[in-house]
Amino acid sequence: MAIDIEIARAATMRPIAEIGSKIDIPEDALIPFGRTKAKIDGSYLSSLDDKPDGKLILVTAINPTPAGEGKTTTTVGLGDGLNRIGKKAVICLREPSLGPCFGMKGGAAGGGKAQVVPMEDINLHFTGDFHAITSAHNLLSAMIDNHIYWGNELQLDQRRITWRRVLDMNDRALRSVVCSLGGVSNGFPRESGFDITVASEIMAILCLAKDLDDLQKRLGNIIIGYRRDKTAVTARDLEADGAMTVLLKEAAQPNLVQTLENNPAFVHGGPFANIAHGCNSVMATKAALKLADYVVTEAGFGADLGAEKFFNIKCRKAGLSPDAVVLVATVRALKINGGIAKDELAAENVPAVTKGCENLGRHIENIKQFGVPVVVAINHFTADTDAEVAAVKTYCEAHGVEAILATHWANGSKGTEALAQRVASLADSGTSNFAPLYDDALPLIDKIEQVAKIIYRADNIAIDKGVRYQLARWEADGFGHLPVCMAKTQYSFTTDPTLRGAPTGHSVPVREVRLSAGAGFIVAICGEIMTMPGLPSVPAATQIGLDGNGQIDGLF
Ligand code: ADP
Ligand code: MG
Repeated sequence: MAIDIEIARAATMRPIAEIGSKIDIPEDALIPFGRTKAKIDGSYLSSLDDKPDGKLILVTAINPTPAGEGKTTTTVGLGDGLNRIGKKAVICLREPSLGPCFGMKGGAAGGGKAQVVPMEDINLHFTGDFHAITSAHNLLSAMIDNHIYWGNELQLDQRRITWRRVLDMNDRALRSVVCSLGGVSNGFPRESGFDITVASEIMAILCLAKDLDDLQKRLGNIIIGYRRDKTAVTARDLEADGAMTVLLKEAAQPNLVQTLENNPAFVHGGPFANIAHGCNSVMATKAALKLADYVVTEAGFGADLGAEKFFNIKCRKAGLSPDAVVLVATVRALKINGGIAKDELAAENVPAVTKGCENLGRHIENIKQFGVPVVVAINHFTADTDAEVAAVKTYCEAHGVEAILATHWANGSKGTEALAQRVASLADSGTSNFAPLYDDALPLIDKIEQVAKIIYRADNIAIDKGVRYQLARWEADGFGHLPVCMAKTQYSFTTDPTLRGAPTGHSVPVREVRLSAGAGFIVAICGEIMTMPGLPSVPAATQIGLDGNGQIDGLF
């Protein structure tokens, strides 16, 4: 089969107004970026408030492995499948970060015959949202150092400034920097650093805000650092929130593109899935629910992180109630979870598949704990054997869940007809009884412990005095009602990335906690977390260029 970029380039794209009209968006509510991309006017979207909501379907997966699971690909394939069987369906995805494009080869717009297009644009500058977020973030950074320069009226402790700078690039050289060097006229030197834009709290805020007022309120709540007496200083104290909102007002409007099969796709926002919640924007999801009967959306990483945060952070905060979950599994990833090395994947190995199904089984149990009905989608790779696929189905049947083979990567919507039928009937069944895992009122430490015990199946959490003290202080300061955003490895239920399958008896060390007062969560860091990735020894960038026809070569 052709590679992703060849398939994407061969697509016959329809004008964006035609795509919008499929979900009854009037042409004058679209703000076009060229012919095949548009933003949807925010004032039009607010006029839809009284319309009933469609059904919300989450696509999540087993623990990721280097073999790849295909959540985005399956989200696209299922959206097309629902349209194929005559349903009015929209998919909601995250926007890709520029950073990884030049590092490891691989985009984030789906794959094979299940992609969103124009894929080069979506993966690169797109409609400029990430640039706007970068600007808003760095405006606040500039205002902080400027405030200190002009006398530091707020009495910020320069050693306790937590707000850094951001860039949408993998650039390890900027992880730690000393700024304001060069003498008296350049300010007061202090240590700081850069994160990648998707790790900015502003990205998480944009994705959780309900509207522009809420956006500004959350921006104002950002804690940028502390005084010597450890009281917090906010972006509102610096009077930065208004200007930051102005920079973000276009970025806050959802982007409309299309799938290879010309069905509508909202691609909006893309927060990190570790120090943030890893879902597309609430504004896009809510708009899609008003415009379509079925909305299929994806959460980052495996279900232990992605679905947990989708439920406990996004749905809780936005008042969303999911109707069904699709849990993606691949035979390859199940084999790896069953203990097989990556270079042994080619040979048929039914026992390894069955062993790896322990991982799948635990995710099924976890999703059921949130009260949402679940179906397993086996994302088919051409090398999977019938016996291996049958082993997954047998396992699922024994665990009371249907597993459906989906061949969208090779066949497009023809390959997800059965999945789409099943998902639509599950979503329509009214059997979802969604509730987040814990109450707002539960102490912060207990929230962390509940996720560790109920979702990760740990025996306990290991949390030292300093971290406990910090959590208690935040509770005293009025942040105790916030949900927790867990940051741990995506590869395992534990904090050890090499422990695949369904481990038990472990302990979850909580090394550090961070307050994202604007986004509205407490980050619990359980492992090494990188907020500014580096490039590999041979970056993909070395292979990228324009060919003789002005087409991009070497990207994906
Ligand atoms: P995720 O969203 O889980 O990170 P993606 O959907 O982005 O995964 O897929 C990751 C990669 O795997 C993409 O390059 C995609 O083309 C590839 N892929 C996904 N499904 C299949 C499949 N069934 N066969 C072959 N390649 C696939
Ligand atoms: Mg994805």
